[in-house]
Amino acid sequence: MGLQLKPGVVFGKEYEQLIEHCKANKFALPAVNVVGTNSINSVMEAAAKNKSDVIIQLSNGGAGFFAGQGLADKTAGMVLGGVSAAQHVHLLAEAYGVCVILHTDHANRKLLPWVSGLLDNGATFKEQTGKPLFSSHMLDLSAEPLEDNLAECETFLKRTAALGMSLEIELGVTGGEEDGVGADIDEVDNAKLYTQPDEVLAAYDRLQPIGHFSVAAAFGNVHGVYKPGNVKLRPEILKDSQAKVRSTHNLSDENPLHLVFHGGSGSEPEKISEAIDYGVFKMNIDTDTQFAFAHGVGGYADEHGNAFKYQIDPTTDEPLKKYYDPRKWLREGEKSMVDRLTQAFEELRSTGKSVATA
Ligand SMILES: [Zn+2]
Repeated sequence: MGLQLKPGVVFGKEYEQLIEHCKANKFALPAVNVVGTNSINSVMEAAAKNKSDVIIQLSNGGAGFFAGQGLADKTAGMVLGGVSAAQHVHLLAEAYGVCVILHTDHANRKLLPWVSGLLDNGATFKEQTGKPLFSSHMLDLSAEPLEDNLAECETFLKRTAALGMSLEIELGVTGGEEDGVGADIDEVDNAKLYTQPDEVLAAYDRLQPIGHFSVAAAFGNVHGVYKPGNVKLRPEILKDSQAKVRSTHNLSDENPLHLVFHGGSGSEPEKISEAIDYGVFKMNIDTDTQFAFAHGVGGYADEHGNAFKYQIDPTTDEPLKKYYDPRKWLREGEKSMVDRLTQAFEELRSTGKSVATA
C-alpha cells in the first residue's frame, strides 16, 4: 500500500513523507511559479486533470504582483501578496482533490525581510488554523561565501522547523536571471555553475540536525530559455553529492539529499529523467508556463482582434462584449497553461501518481 494523504496543502511530516514517496518511486513534482488566481487555478486544474500532486510557488515579484501593482508600499505588498496567494490555495486545494505544496522562490540577502515577514504571518496563521502558511521557503545566498550562506540558512531553518516547515537552500549558482535574482552566465566563474559535493556535505552536516531542508544544487542549469550550447548540464554532480553524503555518514538511503532542479525550462527530457534518478523531487517551472499563458491569450487576440479595439464591430455592427469579456481570453491563457503542465507532469513521471485520497 502506497502513501495516502488528505487532499489540500501538505506540510510538516506529511510533506517529508510525500518527498520520500516521490524519491522512492523516481518521480518529481513541478513547482510552478504563479502571479495571480488565474495561474494558481490553472495549476490546480492541471494537477487534478493529470491526477498528480503539485507545488505552487511564488517569487518575490509574483507575490508583489498578487497584492497589486498599484499598492504604494511595495515591501508590504510582497509579504501581503504572498499571504493572500497562500490563503487562496489553502481555501481551494482540497476542493481540487490533490495535494499541494506551497513554496516560495529565490530570496537573496536583500529579500530576507520578505521571507521573515512571511514567517511572521505564518506564525499567526498557525495560531489560528494549526497549519503553517507555506510548506517551505527558499533562501538563495549562493552568491556569498559558503560560511555566510550556511550561517543564514541555519538561522532561518530554526524558524521554519519551529513552524513545521521546510527550507530550500541554494549551493552553487543557477545561471541566468529570474525576477531580478540570479547571475548573468557570462559574469559567473564557470566553476560556480557546478556545485561541489564537498559544499553539499558541509550543508548536510550543518543543517540536518536542525530541521528538514532541500538543496538546489547547480549542475549547469540556467534560468530561462536560451539557445542551447552555452552551458552543459551535468546531472552526475547530483549523483556524486548523494554518494558523498551517503558514504560519509554510512547511510543506507541511496539518495539521502532532497534535491531541487532550477532552470529546467527547455531541458532535454533525458537530463530531467537522469536528475530524478539522482534524488530530484522538485523541478521549478516558470518560463515555459509564462509563455504558454501568453500563447493562449495571443492566439485568442489574433482570432478576435476587433474585440480588443471596439465595443461594436465597425464592419458588422455586431456587439463584441462576448469576446472582450476577460473571462473569455483569460480562460484561453489558463487552458494553454494546463496543457503545458500536462507535458511537465509526464516528463517528471508524476502523472496518475497523486497520493491524495479520493
Ligand atoms: Zn530558480
